[in-house]
Amino acid sequence: MKHCLPLLPATRLPQWMLVGLLLTAHLAQAQGKSPLAVAAPEDSVTLYLTFDDGIIPASEMLQTLTMEEAAPITVFWIGKFVLHSDTTRRIWRLLENNAYITAGNHSYSHANSHYHQFFHDPQQVLVDFRTNQDSLQFVTHLARLPGRNTWRLAARKRDDLPDGKVAADSLAMAGYTVFGWDLEWNYTATNNQLESVDDLLFRIKQVLQYHRCFTPGHIVLLCHDPALSNPVSITVLRQFIRKARQAGFRFRSLMQYPDQRVIP
Ligand SMILES: [Zn+2]
Repeated sequence: MKHCLPLLPATRLPQWMLVGLLLTAHLAQAQGKSPLAVAAPEDSVTLYLTFDDGIIPASEMLQTLTMEEAAPITVFWIGKFVLHSDTTRRIWRLLENNAYITAGNHSYSHANSHYHQFFHDPQQVLVDFRTNQDSLQFVTHLARLPGRNTWRLAARKRDDLPDGKVAADSLAMAGYTVFGWDLEWNYTATNNQLESVDDLLFRIKQVLQYHRCFTPGHIVLLCHDPALSNPVSITVLRQFIRKARQAGFRFRSLMQYPDQRVIP
């Protein structure tokens, strides 16, 4: 397995990398103390739980979930949602002080749900991400496009729809690592209940079997914060984390994903 982070003198480490190293150390310590955390062998498949479209009131469930399960997650926040109310601002402060949670940039406006029109103007996309950065002061370089499964890592890229290509290249040029996802965790439109643990684990095994992940051995899972509004989903999430660990998977923050862009 390759190193997730390059070896550089400490004095030359950029801020986001220091945050990643500190997070790694903290998580290792925290997991060592937790009876719930199971040590995974070095060649384990790594799962990255990511949550899009927060912060909404239900996002607060991530606080207890991550702490009690000692599970690292990555969240992609939308500025206009985070700053929407006193409640969402309070949850923002709570979650950004949680060492299990890594926050990335999901744009300020989320394209106002008009994706094709949004990506038609790549310069405006960059401005929107910078507005989000200025508003929420992310300490990482992680980004995810709204409505597009697009990847920009150090040496590799992938697009789903072509209209996001130029915007994604612009974000990469501006220093962002743009993450898509390998598998979306479905939830029902009627009551926001997450797909069952067994169904998700079955689909994860299919992704592995048919080599469908962007990086072999690393699976980025996409969840959406609205699913957290159903209490059953929280139980399902807990069961998934425990059952996946029992099956030999391990969980990591996207800061630990291999081959990321390095900003000198
Ligand atoms: Zn989104």
